[in-house]
Amino acid sequence: MNAPLLSAQGLTKRFGGLAAVNEVSVELWRDRIHAVIGPNGAGKSTLTNLLSGDLPPTAGRITLNGHDTTGKSPEHISRLGLGRSYQKTNIFAPFTVWENIRLAAQSGERHSPWNPLHWVGNAARNARVNQRCERALELAGLQSRAHVVAGTTSHGEQRQLEIAMTLATEPTVLLLDEPLAGMGQAEAESMVGLLLRIKPEHAMMLVEHDMDAVFTLADQLTVMVNGQVIASGEPGAVRSDSEVQAAYLGEEH
Ligand code: ADP
Ligand code: MG
Repeated sequence: MNAPLLSAQGLTKRFGGLAAVNEVSVELWRDRIHAVIGPNGAGKSTLTNLLSGDLPPTAGRITLNGHDTTGKSPEHISRLGLGRSYQKTNIFAPFTVWENIRLAAQSGERHSPWNPLHWVGNAARNARVNQRCERALELAGLQSRAHVVAGTTSHGEQRQLEIAMTLATEPTVLLLDEPLAGMGQAEAESMVGLLLRIKPEHAMMLVEHDMDAVFTLADQLTVMVNGQVIASGEPGAVRSDSEVQAAYLGEEH
């Protein structure tokens, strides 16, 4: 389809006198990774939180899969096809990898207990949910870890699990906040592989500090500084932009 799955115009978020996000517009297209970079405090996580509904914008408008989602709840936005991961790991440590994925998938299910067909539909629904979970497990490369307690897996596997949990809700748009944070080389490489595997089916916004990963993955690159977009476009062109060099890429990142 020739339209972005998510588009935001003029998004602004003020915390008191601080404009953490200031007049930012973004588009996310299927089979494209839109990377957002910028120094700490630039407003990247706040932008993610605005798009996901975790924070209401002060101004601006968000459209997701043809619906106006401005100011809507995270649950509502999630049901319309948005999945996100958080900067901080967010799994249920005492449960197994499979149980985590299953719980995430179930949280996206709609229940209608007074429908007489509910009990008849239960088995079929369960089979469908399991199928979704299997697919998420496989895409995340965690098949061999399904029955391991999540809290005992490596940091890299826990981040893969978070993505599997998000995939289990079958989003069309994914917002990933620093999925490579704290990873070593091998873990980072397997996360890059995972993101490439899921790219064709999704529109993705990737907030990330790892520049190797960003330049491997990004189809579009946006640079934020102090809540504002200072450059956005094809990654090679943005990289050679002198304002970007001075503000960010010239630093030791
Ligand atoms: P980034 O993810 O790019 O590091 P953030 O979006 O976390 O940046 O933060 C952008 C700015 O907004 C920072 O100055 C931060 O201190 C401020 N900020 C973020 N969340 C809040 C909040 N809930 N209340 C007040 N200020 C906030
Ligand atoms: Mg952040």
